[in-house]
Amino acid sequence: MAEKKQFVVTISDERCKRCGICIAFCPTKVFTPDAEGFPLITSEEKCIGCRLCEIRCPDIAIKVGAK
Ligand code: SF4
Ligand code: SF4
Repeated sequence: MAEKKQFVVTISDERCKRCGICIAFCPTKVFTPDAEGFPLITSEEKCIGCRLCEIRCPDIAIKVGAK
């Protein structure tokens, strides 16, 4: 049986403006906003590598890579 592909998501605290776009667009709810709206990566194992967060982020703060 093939292993499920895993991805690594990284977010730059410095670049992120807490706009919430990545949280809204992620289809598998990988992120949970903290009190300031910063997207915490709380369910990285759910990431399907669609890169919507990376493409939609206006501040180029997110990178999605293969594990
Ligand atoms: S690549 Fe897709 S599934 Fe993974 S965190 Fe970004 S939006 Fe969510
Ligand atoms: S889309 Fe980019 S700037 Fe907006 S909350 Fe997500 S990481 Fe931060």
